[in-house]
This record gives sequence, C-alpha cells and structure tokens, in this order.
Amino acid sequence: MGDMKEETSEMVIGEHAIETVSVDKTTNNEFVSENTTTELEFSEKETFDEILSENKTVESVCEKETKEAVPEETAKETVTEKKLVVVFVLGGPGGGKSTQCAKIAKEVGYTHLSSGDLLRQTIKSDPVNGPMIEAMIKEGKSVPPDITMEILQKAIEESGNDKFILDGFPRDEEIRAAFESATKTEPELVLFFECSEEERERRILSRNQGRVDDNSESVRKRFRYFQEHTLPVVDYYKRKGLVLQIDAGRLEEEVFETLKSILGPSTTMQAEEAPITEELGKKISELGL
Ligand code: UDP
Ligand code: MG
Repeated sequence: MGDMKEETSEMVIGEHAIETVSVDKTTNNEFVSENTTTELEFSEKETFDEILSENKTVESVCEKETKEAVPEETAKETVTEKKLVVVFVLGGPGGGKSTQCAKIAKEVGYTHLSSGDLLRQTIKSDPVNGPMIEAMIKEGKSVPPDITMEILQKAIEESGNDKFILDGFPRDEEIRAAFESATKTEPELVLFFECSEEERERRILSRNQGRVDDNSESVRKRFRYFQEHTLPVVDYYKRKGLVLQIDAGRLEEEVFETLKSILGPSTTMQAEEAPITEELGKKISELGL
C-alpha cells in the first residue's frame, strides 16, 4: 500500500451536499469521483458489492492453527470469525432509520439488526439485565458495551448471514471501539440520516410504538445523547471517508428510492452483469435532486 492516497469527495443525495466516500487511488475501488461532483466512477469489472466487501473487512485474528492456543478470554473477544460486510446507519432518533433499514435490508439481502430493538427484546427475556437496560433506555443512555456486544454478536451468529445493516449503531465511541475490536471489522459504509430536530420530534411524538422512551422527557435526553456522543462517531467515519449522508427529512418512499439506488443492485444482481456498476453510478448521479 506504499503510496496510497486518499481523497474525500462531495456528493449530493437528496437536498444536501455530502461529504463522503474516500477513494483509495491504489485500487480500483473508486465509487465516488473527484471533488464536488455527483458523478460516480466504477471500475468496469466490479460490482458495488465487491467494492463494498473487498478492502475494509479485516481478517479474523483467530487463524486456524492458533485457534486452539487462544486463551478463553481472548477467544470470546473474537467470537465472530466470519468475514462480515457491515453498513452502519446513524442519525438522530426519529429520523426513520428503523423503518428504512427494515425495507432496504429485505430488498438487498442484508440482515437488519437494530441494537435498540435487540435490547428492548432483552428487557423481556433477561430478568437479570432487563431492569438495568430498561432504565438506561428511559434515560437515553447507552447500555454497557459488553452487554450490548454479547447480544449483538449472538444475533449476528444466529442470522447465518454475513451481510448486515446495523441500525442506530454504534451510538457512541465506546461501543464503536468495542465492536471493531471484537469483530475486527470496519464498516464498508456509514449511512447518515440527516433530518431536522423539529421534524424528528414531531415524528416521535406522533407515533405510538409502545416505547418507554417516546415521551418528551426521554426524547430530549435521547436528542442530547445523539448530539454529544453519536455525532462524534459520524465525524470519526467522515474522517475516514466512509460517510454517505441521506436527506431523511423527505417522504418515506423518496428516502427508500434513494437507498435502493445506493444499495439495491449490489446484491440483487450477479457479478457477471458487468454494467451494473456503471448503471448504479448513473442512478446515483441522477439523484442529485
Ligand atoms: N441503546 C443502547 N445501545 C445501542 C442501541 C440502543 O444503549 O446500541 C439504547 C439507548 O438507551 C437508546 C435506546 O436503546 O436511547 C433506543 O435505541 P434505538 O436505536 O432504538 O433508538 P432510535 O434511534 O431508533 O430512536
Ligand atoms: Mg430505531
């Protein structure tokens, strides 16, 4: 990787300019063209899926011969030995992450996992940790990383899949570091759902999902947590050129169309269907609304 050069580009999805995806000049993985343009470039041979999965997932630390020798505790940390393809979806509460992730994951063959949903299920199933998790959720605080990671890794294992859309994760630096160290995986892409606070508040308070934290006091705390702890994670990945910003303030169907254009063809088409990367590039550039 001697003289690898990184560049950050600007892209427009929806109404907002996006600072986004870095380009590794030593590979063919250019899926964003240079500076302030909506054109995307693709290597002719590669599908978006290949682009996503090629260079970011770090090999598992547990190699075959050394596996036996790894002490129990270390082995636990590296429990997910599959090579994972992971897309993180971040954004303030009420931005529509869960709604969109559920739809898009189905469409593209990824498994949608929401750590928030998994924790809510754990409240019901785990009498030991349940009360603590519920209290943290009401306060909009984060459940300790070891508990969250255990639950998340179990869900990853049980899914039988190796491609995941992780919704509302990682919501702070601590859990980001815990995830990367436990799975030895970096996200291929981070989708950042941008939506005004007024609109998000309106959406949350006008829905009824029976959530203990969908009341104005919890909402205030959740918004604050997002501002103080999640945005730094978004910035961390922005610096790595992995963030793609989505205008999530639009109608549900419009946001979904955007997401389909970005992720859709990668997994629904076969690798031999060479023109898809070019088509995908066109589609995304057409989205420069
Ligand atoms: N939560 C957590 N860790 C996570 C995800 C969620 O501790 O990885 C807790 C946290 O208290 C958060 C709540 O669960 O406020 C709800 O999370 P969710 O992602 O469902 O909220 P959303 O962003 O969808 O409103
Ligand atoms: Mg959610």
